[in-house]
Amino acid sequence: MSQGQDPPKKRFPLTLDFVTGVADRKRSTAAPRLNSLQTATRNAAQNAPQPTNTPQVNTPRPSLVSSTQPKPSPIPQRPVNSPLVSDAVRKAMIQRLAQQGIKDTKVLAAMETVPRHMFIEPGLASQAYIDASLPIGYHQTISQPYIVARMIEVLRDGIEGKMSRVLEIGTGCGYQAAVLAQVADQVYSIERIRPLHEQARNNLRSLLIPNLRLHYGDGMLGLPQIGSFDGIILAAAGMEVPQALLDQMAIGGRLAAPVGNRHQELRLIRRIRRNEWTTETLERCHFVPLRPGTFG
Ligand code: SAH
Repeated sequence: MSQGQDPPKKRFPLTLDFVTGVADRKRSTAAPRLNSLQTATRNAAQNAPQPTNTPQVNTPRPSLVSSTQPKPSPIPQRPVNSPLVSDAVRKAMIQRLAQQGIKDTKVLAAMETVPRHMFIEPGLASQAYIDASLPIGYHQTISQPYIVARMIEVLRDGIEGKMSRVLEIGTGCGYQAAVLAQVADQVYSIERIRPLHEQARNNLRSLLIPNLRLHYGDGMLGLPQIGSFDGIILAAAGMEVPQALLDQMAIGGRLAAPVGNRHQELRLIRRIRRNEWTTETLERCHFVPLRPGTFG
């Protein structure tokens, strides 16, 4: 699924096919049984051999590099009683996030719902709920839970209900997009590295998130064909926020982005009028670089 190929008539909620891109390739598949995120986690736990704890190297997954067809989901398989998938481990992460200052209960609930271990290599799964970024291949990382929660919290800005339309730049493995989909009606996420875009699709397939749409392309251009967004999150740091993204913010909308090179800071930008934005600097952070163009 790439930019510019969206038929305007696709409407939310989207079917699984729109997340996986299967519909775009006009493949016919049997209708999947609908599971909640929690059920999918349990299923993954129940069908599961022992995980390995071999050290991981930050190298591409060969099966994804030349992939043109959707692959079966590479969801890590775990034993039933593994602490890696127990609710208790994820709950402990939530408690830690609260201690670190995350106050928005909707964000904490979203982080509790999404099984982070299903987005990373099985060999790293024992670290899935510690507060660290982890390699996902192609020199990229899954962001640390704290910064995922923090960015979504500042984007929501304490609003009661769900955000309506949100854009993420830098899908990576798809984790933050899945969390965003718990707190917004429609989520779009763009990734510039094709194998990671495919990997995110695979990771998300069994979670059946109907309001999440993945795009392969240069996120610095945004998705002008979709319209304006009331929230935009950048998961990669540029020296400045691309003007195209500022222009795609709704009036009253918010954008959270790391800005900088070696020294980075998290910025919250609000669009208050058609030609007026305000910027607030929040805290130090560390992200992979925002790069132009596409790869793969
Ligand atoms: N959102 C992820 C974090 C992924 S790391 C999570 O859930 O943890 C940041 C990602 O941004 C990388 O995969 C990188 O390839 C991607 N990226 C960098 N520049 C980009 C661009 N211009 N457009 C889209 N993606 C970009």
